[in-house]
Amino acid sequence: MNERVWTPPTEWERNVLAIEPSKTIIEEPDGRRRALSQVALSEEWMRQIFQGYRCIRCFQEFKEVGQPSWPGRCKVCGLNVKRDQRREIVEFFKGEHPVGPQDSLVDREEEFLRRRFHEPKVQIVKEDRG
Ligand SMILES: [Zn+2]
Repeated sequence: MNERVWTPPTEWERNVLAIEPSKTIIEEPDGRRRALSQVALSEEWMRQIFQGYRCIRCFQEFKEVGQPSWPGRCKVCGLNVKRDQRREIVEFFKGEHPVGPQDSLVDREEEFLRRRFHEPKVQIVKEDRG
């Protein structure tokens, strides 16, 4: 009898639904140019990114590496999450993105997610670190 061992998908496989090359090039303040990728993420990861529990650049969950939400510096990629993540969410979200005063942003984001996730996935444009 042939027995195949089923292995569950990795966390990455379950949450990064698609990565596609993009023609978008961004220019950094210091003049470096970077190509971006289109990355489609699961609703769970998007919510974590919106709520500051996961890094928008490297997708590290802060809890896993012993960091609080919205850390001043992501242990993995060095992003200043506290300062930059909300700006990157707004900047890199494809299509509609949440706007409004900071204190109501989380509610708006959740409302946005509920509406947005009538589609199976959402796309953000992410820095291509490859
Ligand atoms: Zn990071």
